[in-house]
Amino acid sequence: MQLTKEELKGYFSDDIFAAISETAEKLGLECYAVGGYVRDIFLKRPSKDIDVVVVGSGIAMAQALGKRLGRHAHVSVFKNFGTAQVKYHKIEIEFVGARRESYQRDSRKPIVENGTLEDDQNRRDFTINALAVCLNAERFGELIDPFNGMENLKDKIIRTPLDPDITFSDDPLRMMRGIRFATQLNFQIEEETFESIARNKERIEIISKERIADELNKILASPVPSIGFVLLDQCGLLSLIFPELANMQGVDSRNGKAHKDNFYHTLEVLDNIAKHTDNLWIRWSALLHDIGKPVCKRWEPKAGWTFHNHNFVGEKMIPNIFRKMKLPMNEKMKYVQKMVGLHMRPIVLAEDIVTDSAVRRLLFDAGDDIDDLMSLCEADITSKNEIRKQKFLDNFQLVRQKLRDLEEKDRIRNFQPPISGEEIMEAFGLRPCKEVGALKSSIKDAILDGVIPNEYEAAYNYMIEKAEKMKLKPIK
Ligand code: ATP
Repeated sequence: MQLTKEELKGYFSDDIFAAISETAEKLGLECYAVGGYVRDIFLKRPSKDIDVVVVGSGIAMAQALGKRLGRHAHVSVFKNFGTAQVKYHKIEIEFVGARRESYQRDSRKPIVENGTLEDDQNRRDFTINALAVCLNAERFGELIDPFNGMENLKDKIIRTPLDPDITFSDDPLRMMRGIRFATQLNFQIEEETFESIARNKERIEIISKERIADELNKILASPVPSIGFVLLDQCGLLSLIFPELANMQGVDSRNGKAHKDNFYHTLEVLDNIAKHTDNLWIRWSALLHDIGKPVCKRWEPKAGWTFHNHNFVGEKMIPNIFRKMKLPMNEKMKYVQKMVGLHMRPIVLAEDIVTDSAVRRLLFDAGDDIDDLMSLCEADITSKNEIRKQKFLDNFQLVRQKLRDLEEKDRIRNFQPPISGEEIMEAFGLRPCKEVGALKSSIKDAILDGVIPNEYEAAYNYMIEKAEKMKLKPIK
């Protein structure tokens, strides 16, 4: 974790850093690498964005550097933000002037003034993000760590540089960022810092939904996403930003019968799926798979607690949740809806005798997402009873084997019935009417039930046979 000045210099050995030193010398400006890039050197994490703070004008520094580097450098200036980016070969560096910020209560847009390096470090969110490395020639590689960020990195602690009530109230997004870093890095949030999040939680209302969704996505993409959701719950943010999920908590018990806590069950499923895949949307599906349960919860004297139809109710809730949380309303949402809607199907199958017909229907409904659905369902087995768990897993293996066999034989995935509605109308001289629909779905059912093979001729003959029973005659 500790690096000597010489070792640290090694991380700034690219030509561009020598050019920064020389340019800074010429302009008489102090320059420091700061923030995530410096933190990630010590954490040995790959990091792409390099931020450089200039005590003076970041834009002037970037423009002078661009000139010095010549035609291989590309400089973009963002006047409104007072920043500039220099791209040189594969390296991108963002230059910004050191600033002092003061905040008003109703906005996370501060009043910005020019400041010193110290001012700039004071406005950072966490001590581990406030480390700076000097890039000026005579102090090249010197670490400036006014808040014991290195110690906190070593001890895996998230702590604000200043009084946390000020840091969080100034910019409440930092509460989400803190929980996100704790999840991504598997760090602890220091006690006072965490208590302050709980105290300031209501301030989250001034943060845009898009920013919150960004942080939730980063929590979900972490190795153990449950860490973040437990923290969000413990500090009280969860019920403000995601009430449907917070609602899943709690256990009711009647006549000695209790159901499981659906929130903690969901988090277990989420961590299980996170071990298998990086796919963000399957992780969202895991998070939302039981979201309909609180609405569907009933007590039935014979059966105990039931959640009938929670998959369909959950599926219907997804568009509203996505809209409210500013998540994409596109095919990603449709995918999550499909996974939530279908997640009981393989389980029902695995509980029963696995028939070809049921497997074909599942394959027809899931299409190309069948493998993801099977993975989600396997992740959903959180039973502590090992024998029961093994029984389910074995049955899922059987379902997977049947899926493979039937796929080879019948090509059901993305299957379109071999005879279209138009062909049916043409064959019998019909206009669109319910008989056409009935014939079409009876052909589909016959194929899915294995009565006829998935082939044109068999389907045509079957249609004629069915039509005869409906007193329809072919016109040719
Ligand atoms: P990641 O790239 O994973 O988001 P990062 O730490 O690089 O992590 P950025 O959002 O790129 O995060 O921010 C770069 C640096 O800017 C941070 O390390 C931190 O010092 C500072 N920073 C970013 N956002 C804030 C904020 N809301 N409040 C205070 N400081 C911030």
